[in-house]
Amino acid sequence: MERLQKVIARAGITSRRKAENYITAGRVKVNGKVVRELGTKVTAKDRIEVDGIPIEREEPVYFLLYKPNKVISAVHDDKGRTVVTDYMGKTDARIYPVGRLDYHTSGLLLLTNDGEFANSMMHPRSKINKTYIAKVKGKPSKQTLQTLSRGIELEDGKTLPARCAFKSGNKKNDTSIIEIVISEGRNQQVRRMLEAVDHPVLKLKRERYAFLTLDGLQPGDFRTLKPVEVAKLR
Ligand code: URA
Repeated sequence: MERLQKVIARAGITSRRKAENYITAGRVKVNGKVVRELGTKVTAKDRIEVDGIPIEREEPVYFLLYKPNKVISAVHDDKGRTVVTDYMGKTDARIYPVGRLDYHTSGLLLLTNDGEFANSMMHPRSKINKTYIAKVKGKPSKQTLQTLSRGIELEDGKTLPARCAFKSGNKKNDTSIIEIVISEGRNQQVRRMLEAVDHPVLKLKRERYAFLTLDGLQPGDFRTLKPVEVAKLR
């Protein structure tokens, strides 16, 4: 038995909070009857409709993919380019990525069919640490790394404090490898942060997501998340 609003949120229709509003507004039916009680519990057998449309219920599944470079973080691409779900084998579950990595970013990406889980991972409040390894042009000074760490003004506002460390440099090519840990998930954030300090990103990889790593995986590989990992992320 699960709470009705949780089941609606998991189906990916809306957040749990909004699902509660739908229920109190009389937009939700269980087995053909309008239900306005927020405490209502439902089983897998109950037929749930939102605005007259039955919701599809699937067993929640959670995957960790090592996204290769040049792959779209979506389930479909109008231009026919490779998308992340192309790597996931044949599954009936309607999975989709939790957030996105740029076409030219490789690394750790979660996929799920659990809308509630995806929403909570992507919510600004979640502040999940994401660790990126960036190859950048030039050699950022200590001061530049400090500036990035403290937060930098971007067109959509100042970034939250981040961790930023120099890893290695290549004098011949005038490039450096830096590690940057951010707790936000703005669009192209790492690229924009580094561009703003005149060290454009040449290559970008997400190495960690919270406590999860890419250990044992090659680009294109995926694995199922363990229930204990899912519980820890929530
Ligand atoms: N920041 C970026 O700039 N790109 C990504 O793909 C992820 C974070």
